[in-house]
Amino acid sequence: MEQPISVTRSNFNDWMVPVFAPANFIPVRGEGSRIWDQENKEYIDFAGGIAVNALGHAHPVAVNALTEQAKKLWHVGNGYTNEPVLRLAKQLTENTFADKVFFCNSGAEANEAALKLARKVGLDSGVAGKCGIVAFKNAFHGRTLFTVSAGGQPKYSQDFAPLPNGINHVAFNDLDAAKAVINEQTCAVIVEPIQGEGGVIPADIEFLKGLRALCDEFGALLIFDEVQTGVGRTGSLYAYMNTGVIPDVLTTAKALGGGFPVGAMLTTDKYAPHFSVGTHGTTYGGNPLASAVAGAVFEFINTPEVLEGVKHRHQYFLDALNTLNAEYQIFEEIRGQGLLIGCVLKAEYAGKAKDITTWAGEEGLLALIAGPDVVRFTPSLIIPEQDIDEGIARLKRALAKLAK
Ligand SMILES: *Cc1c(COP(=O)(O)O)cnc(C)c1O
Repeated sequence: MEQPISVTRSNFNDWMVPVFAPANFIPVRGEGSRIWDQENKEYIDFAGGIAVNALGHAHPVAVNALTEQAKKLWHVGNGYTNEPVLRLAKQLTENTFADKVFFCNSGAEANEAALKLARKVGLDSGVAGKCGIVAFKNAFHGRTLFTVSAGGQPKYSQDFAPLPNGINHVAFNDLDAAKAVINEQTCAVIVEPIQGEGGVIPADIEFLKGLRALCDEFGALLIFDEVQTGVGRTGSLYAYMNTGVIPDVLTTAKALGGGFPVGAMLTTDKYAPHFSVGTHGTTYGGNPLASAVAGAVFEFINTPEVLEGVKHRHQYFLDALNTLNAEYQIFEEIRGQGLLIGCVLKAEYAGKAKDITTWAGEEGLLALIAGPDVVRFTPSLIIPEQDIDEGIARLKRALAKLAK
């Protein structure tokens, strides 16, 4: 066999459009919650590919589903349906509030579909000008023009004006502010049950209940963006299940494929028919390969053992982080649910989250930030306790550098 072309991290700067600034090493192999780089240095993975690798790396369940399907059928296009996508749709509808599913390839596409569906439902209602979307400051919904405009971080959207209009942003967890802008012209309210990229900030249950009531009052769709919180991340299958609030539309991606790109928009029989034949579509969405992997990952995660295991690991993580913090006094607050955990830096360490993850990398730990002041952990949902212990030991060495 021919030798593969030799590549280094500096080639990224040579050939890649510079929208990312990746770490100075290149991961080449993973197993469970461990990764190895080109130099065979080992890392503990507390990042999980940004809440994606729910079963860690190279889990046999996912590998088998992928390789078995790879030998059969990869893609036929949406002029034909396929068995894996129908099975996955059955799983998703049987285990959630939803009756119908639209499949796509990413979180942004799932939210794009949700927002377009809401606009279409608004149009079909016959109420003049029912196209308003209410979204929240600091939210993140993806990078397409519509979803980045719905997101509440102007730094990501302002350079791409003119933006889609009719989107109103108000403060997260401020029900009065939402009340002031939701009216008959509102077709949708889109909200993350826990703002992930925005700093791991949980929505108050009363806030979500209030949004539900306002959407009911004014005939607007309540969209829960569960791209980050979904598929077991919080210790429930979906985070809405922790709140007692049922949305009209739910978007899911990230962990859904356990590392294989797939996304989905879930909704009810009431709204699904507004997306009639030809109104929306995708080439790859719901392809057999992605659907087979997602089906296997979903089946594995949606068990009491795995979901309880996430809650158990949450407490294990928190105990370890609190012990570390007692020594170093770096974090003001440690928050989140399940294995979506955010450590908020004290004011004196403001802006240092990126430095901490860089030092963590040097110590052999992959970790994330959620804004400049929050260190975020979204590991595999089945990370072994000894890997948590080892990762915390490495984090401790990184924090010691900061404390100095
Ligand atoms: C990651 C994320 C998205 C975007 O998903 P992509 O797959 O990157 O398009 C949307 N919403 C939330 C809450 C996310 O965390």
